[in-house]
Amino acid sequence: MGLADLHIHTIYSYDGTAPVAAVLDRAKAVGLNVIAITDHDEIKGSLKAFDLAPRFGIEVIPGLEITTAEGDLLALFVTEKIEPNLSLIGTLMEVGEAGGICIAPHPMARGMGMKSLSRASIARAMEHPEASRILLGIETYNATALDRESNVHAQALADEHPDLTQVGSSDAHTLQTIGLGATEFLGYPAANLLDALWIGATEVRRGAQLGSARILGSWALNYVLSTPARAAVID
Ligand SMILES: [Zn+2]
Repeated sequence: MGLADLHIHTIYSYDGTAPVAAVLDRAKAVGLNVIAITDHDEIKGSLKAFDLAPRFGIEVIPGLEITTAEGDLLALFVTEKIEPNLSLIGTLMEVGEAGGICIAPHPMARGMGMKSLSRASIARAMEHPEASRILLGIETYNATALDRESNVHAQALADEHPDLTQVGSSDAHTLQTIGLGATEFLGYPAANLLDALWIGATEVRRGAQLGSARILGSWALNYVLSTPARAAVID
């Protein structure tokens, strides 16, 4: 079985704190064999991770977390930036053009400036004949969600849409939280994971869910410490 964490941020995210090499090292150490680097509206860290990955014995799926007009959206298997602030369906079509697929992260969750897709937005996309072929997954476990109820809402929404494959992820903005949520799939390479996303053959792995005070406190400390590193990579 393969184990993937498909939602990880690096210092190439405005709110990330971990350098790319440290993320790869940590991901390998906690037993993941596939990860996706999904920085907010930025692809550089993900491409860097993709290049460095073989040295760490781990596979990286290039991608990003796109700010759509309707909420955040994870795009995987893309190697270019996708324009932010388009409608959800418009963004899904762009990702499809770029050869990628999407996952709805932390649906309906609220928290510190976070905008998440609503039940209505997801339902509209799933009724769209083409967009629904790009939106393959839904994050039913987000290990660092500050809104503790959000995973319950996400699970209820997933139950309404059996065509969406369930994934678990960390949404890690710090090294320490990588792998606390993960997705198990049959096979090992990322190509098997893509197949599993298509046919709904995944298992959500739930690690320790830390309290929101601990998550925020650790992030704030790491954020301050990583300010010079982040400034050096963000234009
Ligand atoms: Zn995120």
